[in-house]
Amino acid sequence: MIEKRDFYINGRWVAPAAPNDCDVIDPSTEEVCAVISLGSEADTDAAVAAAKAALPGWATTAPAGRLAYVEKILEIYKRRQAEMGAAISLEMGAPIDMAVDDQAEAGAWHIQNFITAFKDFEFLRPLGPQAPQTRIALEPVGVVGLITPWNWPMNQVTLKAIPALLAGCTMVLKPSEVSPLSSLLFAEIVHEAGVPPGVFNLVNGDGLGVGTRLSTHPDVEMISFTGSTRAGIAITKAAADTVKRVCLELGGKGANLIFADADDNAVRRGARHCFNNSGQSCNAPTRMLVERPLYDRAVDIAREVAETTRVAPAKETGAHIGPVVSAAQYEKIQGLIAKGIEEGARLVAGGLGRPDGLNRGYFVRPTVFADVVPGMTIEKEEIFGPVLSIIPFDTEEEALAIANDTIYGLTNYVQSADGARRNRLARQLKSGMVEMNGQSRGAGAPFGGVKASGRAREGGHWGIEEFLDVKAISGWDGK
Ligand code: NAD
Repeated sequence: MIEKRDFYINGRWVAPAAPNDCDVIDPSTEEVCAVISLGSEADTDAAVAAAKAALPGWATTAPAGRLAYVEKILEIYKRRQAEMGAAISLEMGAPIDMAVDDQAEAGAWHIQNFITAFKDFEFLRPLGPQAPQTRIALEPVGVVGLITPWNWPMNQVTLKAIPALLAGCTMVLKPSEVSPLSSLLFAEIVHEAGVPPGVFNLVNGDGLGVGTRLSTHPDVEMISFTGSTRAGIAITKAAADTVKRVCLELGGKGANLIFADADDNAVRRGARHCFNNSGQSCNAPTRMLVERPLYDRAVDIAREVAETTRVAPAKETGAHIGPVVSAAQYEKIQGLIAKGIEEGARLVAGGLGRPDGLNRGYFVRPTVFADVVPGMTIEKEEIFGPVLSIIPFDTEEEALAIANDTIYGLTNYVQSADGARRNRLARQLKSGMVEMNGQSRGAGAPFGGVKASGRAREGGHWGIEEFLDVKAISGWDGK
C-alpha cells in the first residue's frame, strides 16, 4: 500500500485541517491500494490564499522564465515517466505497458507541444494597420481552479496545469478522488522543478466538497474542468454568482463513418480504438456506422476483435485491456449492456458479467452490438466501457444525420478512399474534432468539443489562450 500523502500548498506537503480519509481502490483487485485525505472548505481556502499571494510575482515573471520552469518539469517528468505510469496503472487500472507508453506519455507529449507553441507566443500584439496605436494585450486570468477526471489522468492534468503556468496564472488542482496518485507525483515533479511556492497547489477532495468550494470561491477567476456533462453543468451554475470563466471538456459519443471503399483495416482499427483504455475515453468511436455493402463483414471483424481482445489485471505486461475504474462504473456499464439486449440490439460478442477466469476486479467483457437502431439507449448514452454499437447505413446523408443526432459533439471519424467525400463530411460533422483514415490529431492541435461535449479548446496555442484575458489598449506609444 502506498504511504499516505496529503495536500501540496504553498510549496509544502500539509495535513488536512480535519481528518477525512478516503480509500483509493485498485480496480484489478478491489483492494485498498492507498489512502488520501479529502479536503474541506478550510483546506481549499488555504490553497486559494497561497495561489492568490503568489499571483503578482508569477504573473510578472518574464515569459522566458516561466518557460524555463516548464522545460525543467518536462525533463523531470520524462525521468520519472515509468513511476508515473505505475501510479496511473494502480489507481485506474490501465495495463502497465499502456500506462507508461500511452497514458503517461500523453502528458510528456502535451508538455512538449505547449513548449513549442509558447516559443512564438505573443503577449502583446498590434491590432492592425487601421489602428496603429492600438495593442491587444493577453494577460493571465489570475487564480484558476483545475478539476480533472480519472480516465486519462496525466493527459488532463498537463493540458491544464502547464498552459496555466505558461500563461502566468497560479492554480489549485483538484484531481479525481478516484485517481489521485498520479497527481500527487505530478506535484512532486513541480516541486523538484523549483516552481515558486504558491504557484501550483493541490488539494485532494470530492466534487461536492473541494470541487464546489473552488467553483464558488470569490478569489478563483476561472475553472478549467474535464469530466462528465452532469458535473460540468453543476460547476457552470455554481460559478455563475462570481462570474468566473468556465472551460468545459465533457463527454462524447463519437461516430465512426465507415464507407465500403474504406481501407481494409478500418473496421479493425475502429473496434480496437473503441476498446482501448477499456472504453474509458471521451473521444472513443463508440458508434460504428457502416455502409450496407460492408456491413456483414464489418460485424464479423468487430466480433473477432472483441473475442481476441485479452482482458487481464493492470500489472500484467503486454497488449491487453484492464478493468474499468470502479464498482460504480462496472455497474453502470452492466446496466447499459442489459438495456441494449432488452431494447433488441443484436449481441454478437461479450455481454453481461466478467470475462471467463476473472472473478474479482471490475473487468468487463469487450462487447459488440449489431443492428443498433438510432434512438436506442446504447446509441444515445455515453457508456464509458468497452462496448461498441454497429449501425448500418445506405447513403452519405443518412450517415451524416445519424452521426449528428446526438447531444454530444467531441470527435467524429470518417473512413473512405474518396477524398472529396472525406473533406465534405469533415465540414458537416458537428464536433470539435474530426479524424479520418486513422490519422490522429496533429501535435499542438486543439482538443475540445461543441454542444454537451463542452466548448473548451485544450492543447498547443489554443490551450494557452484559454488561461489569458484579452485587453484592448488604445493610445499606445508605439515608438
Ligand atoms: P465526473 O464528472 O464524475 O468527475 C470529474 C471531476 O469532477 C472529479 O474530479 C470530480 O471530483 C469532480 N466533480 C464531480 N462533481 C462535481 C461538482 N458538482 N462540482 C465540482 N467538481 C465536481 O467525471 P469522471 O467520472 O471522473 O470522468 C468521466 C467523464 O469525463 C466522462 O463523461 C468523460 O467523457 C469525461 N471526459 C471528458 C474529456 C474531454 O476532454 N472532453 C476527457 C476525459 C473525460
